[in-house]
Amino acid sequence: MAAAKLLSLRKSVVEAAGLLVRSGAMSLSHHGNFSVRVPGADRMLLTASGSFDNLRPEQLALLDLEGQLLEGEVDPANAEIVHMHAVVYKHRPEAGAVVHTHSPFATSFAVAGRPMDCWYEAMVRTGMTDGVPLAHYGPRGSPMAIANIAAALASGKQIRAVLLENHGVLAFGPDPAGAARAVVILEESAHLALNAELLGGAKVIPPELRKATLERRDEFARAGVRRS
Ligand SMILES: [Zn+2]
Repeated sequence: MAAAKLLSLRKSVVEAAGLLVRSGAMSLSHHGNFSVRVPGADRMLLTASGSFDNLRPEQLALLDLEGQLLEGEVDPANAEIVHMHAVVYKHRPEAGAVVHTHSPFATSFAVAGRPMDCWYEAMVRTGMTDGVPLAHYGPRGSPMAIANIAAALASGKQIRAVLLENHGVLAFGPDPAGAARAVVILEESAHLALNAELLGGAKVIPPELRKATLERRDEFARAGVRRS
């Protein structure tokens, strides 16, 4: 792939990571890792160090989906999580970018070992109609953790993220901006659900109304921009 195209993919990750920091969806440490699929190749670009602060395009390393480093460098902590990203690209062909964070409200559900249901309209519109499944705990990036993530990814068609038990969030989207949006909506949703616990608990959107919500969204999208 042309160097200019790879540079534009790198920049799209840096931009989306900055958006996540500015949104307030990150944990206090701003810890996370982000990757983008290289179209037409079994390859990805992955952030090489563990914070989204001051990320630069050249800090993304090029790897294949078996975890082999092809270009750049990856620090030891991030070498552990290569397969955590690759497993998403292998199991979800629609994933163009993957992001992992410790977003505090969503991670609260992960440490409680509780999957998230579809209780917020923004989840439906972001492609989380089947909620957010839980991937059972395994040491980060280990074969056990990867098998658990693969099982969670297979548990629902309309999902855009999984909760990593006792750890954090793994979300994906068609591109880095879409993956970042999934984290923000997930974090909002977890925050609202925790508040709703004080009021008797979050109410699930019935499946037929989730479908109606998507149909209405698509109908308006088809109609295009209205102009006077
Ligand atoms: Zn982590």
